[in-house]
Amino acid sequence: MLACQVHGAMDLRVIDVPVPRPGTGEVLLRLGAAGICGSDMHYYLHGRVGSFVIREPLTPGHEASGVVAELGEGVSGLRVGDRVAINPSRPCGRCAGCREGRENLCANMRFLGSASVFPHMQGLFSEYFVMPAGQCVPVASAVSLGEIAMSEPLSVALHSVHRAGSLLGRQVLITGSGTIGCMMVLAARLAGAAHIAVTDVVDHPLTVARQVGADQTVRTDQLLADQALSDLIGEPDVAFEVSGAPSALSACLNTVRRGGTVVQVGTLPAEGLHLHANLVMSRELDLRGSFRFGNVFGQAVSAIASRRVDVRPVLSGAHPLSDAARAIEQARDKSISMKVQLVPTGA
Ligand SMILES: [Zn+2]
Ligand SMILES: [Zn+2]
Repeated sequence: MLACQVHGAMDLRVIDVPVPRPGTGEVLLRLGAAGICGSDMHYYLHGRVGSFVIREPLTPGHEASGVVAELGEGVSGLRVGDRVAINPSRPCGRCAGCREGRENLCANMRFLGSASVFPHMQGLFSEYFVMPAGQCVPVASAVSLGEIAMSEPLSVALHSVHRAGSLLGRQVLITGSGTIGCMMVLAARLAGAAHIAVTDVVDHPLTVARQVGADQTVRTDQLLADQALSDLIGEPDVAFEVSGAPSALSACLNTVRRGGTVVQVGTLPAEGLHLHANLVMSRELDLRGSFRFGNVFGQAVSAIASRRVDVRPVLSGAHPLSDAARAIEQARDKSISMKVQLVPTGA
């Protein structure tokens, strides 16, 4: 079977390896579809994501669906042929974060496709892989394997909504209109937001944001010199900063209403950030972080399975695993791509 391995910056190899066998409590899955995420691109381009550096060949990928190919000993609730969404989180269940019910803050998290631990947690850019049965959520409806693979990014958005508190009847701003920005639009809609404005500096993602339900979109790079974002969208109750751009966080702090809430979802630069942080005091803002996701994966899967959340406008193409490097290059081009996925070669 084929598997992708990143050996270092710009060194991605598609190799032929034996199909693994499932152990007790595990299942063998054939890849359905695996989304290429920002962190996968970073591993390929730079050999690292922030402080997580590749020290042995790493198979990236943490947003995937699969089809059950074989059951290990003692597995119940899954059958061969079942289509499943894969939860990439494996919290320890014992640390303070886990016991508090905030598993995403687990001190011993094992997250798929990540060099955060050594040996690395191998990911899902592979024709077959073995998963603990507990990380597989079966989907009985007729939605595509590509849609099912969006359960992970939707979970990120649902978690951010939980961090914000009730959005029912609220005015919402989302800065950054990539895949997660569009998942935020869908999640905010689901949570009853009254008005959703989305900003970006590229047209294509804003077009998709409108397709998934944004009420208003703004090219922030095209604001006039004397124009504030609030002149166009008013003062939202809640802002989600998804882009990771320091200027966008500034815009959120300046644009939400006094007493409003700003949730940081995107990854900001590690250093050299200049912010009017005093706005947090003088405008009495709640500034909150949102990291990966907690106990919302099942909710994301059922919203997609029922198409109560329709992710199809965000899917912009599937490529065979053997073409992974080219697919990653395509995923980088925001003027044409949203979520690019990998599928088994010949699928
Ligand atoms: Zn991701
Ligand atoms: Zn834990």
